[in-house]
Amino acid sequence: MKAKVRLYLDHPLGVGQSVPLDRDQAHYLFGVMRLSVGDGVLVFNGQSGEWLAEITEAGKRGGALSVVDQTAPQMNPPDLWLLFAPIKKARTDFIVEKAAEMGAARIVPVQTDFTNSERIRQDRLQAHAVEAAEQCGGTFVPEVTNLQKLDRLLDNWPDDRQLMFCDETEAGAALTLANAGKGPWAIVIGPEGGFSDRERKRLNALPQSHVVSLGPRILRADTAAVAAMTIWQQTFGDWQ
Ligand code: SAM
Repeated sequence: MKAKVRLYLDHPLGVGQSVPLDRDQAHYLFGVMRLSVGDGVLVFNGQSGEWLAEITEAGKRGGALSVVDQTAPQMNPPDLWLLFAPIKKARTDFIVEKAAEMGAARIVPVQTDFTNSERIRQDRLQAHAVEAAEQCGGTFVPEVTNLQKLDRLLDNWPDDRQLMFCDETEAGAALTLANAGKGPWAIVIGPEGGFSDRERKRLNALPQSHVVSLGPRILRADTAAVAAMTIWQQTFGDWQ
């Protein structure tokens, strides 16, 4: 049995396990992808690797799968958080999608002094992270948290988590991660308006902080998020 479609399921997975499908999943598999009983689907739940499952029931309002065999082990990303200040809707969606593809373990929208939007739809952003994992062959889905105040996060910053502070005022300076080491990390990217002087002082004063330049040009926040994750993954992550 071959399977091309990958689907995230919030359900335990194991050989012989029967998994019910809700209306949305049934619509996607049977309406959009035109699959039917007997076809195979690759499924994962974010914790137990990837599995081949066979469609055993296919209806308009639901259906069922039976899990056949494991096709890939669970692969978790490095312990990297991406902190970013939400920008316009489509660009925020892009950041979440790319962060999930590039191997963030946790995606944290932060409210900064110059953050453009005061609210986010956490459920919608989480759904983007799920979709990105389905598309990229990943078995892990990063958690997208609710909007958090950057100040509050910094008040309780974990001792062992280093912070890659991407500071646009250092654009072009020769600042790299050369003096840092592996372990838990976070990247922080500011909003369109950049960081305030007050935030910059706070971020620089944090002992775990490493200020970094992303080259001589000022990048948009979504470009900066991808560039920063590329540098980090290449230096400390699972691209090595
Ligand atoms: N309004 C700011 C300005 O004109 O100086 C630009 C902010 S930029 C659009 C958004 C975020 O991307 C920044 O807060 C920073 O975190 C990151 N960023 C963009 N370009 C960067 C660079 N060359 N070096 C370091 N960080 C950069």
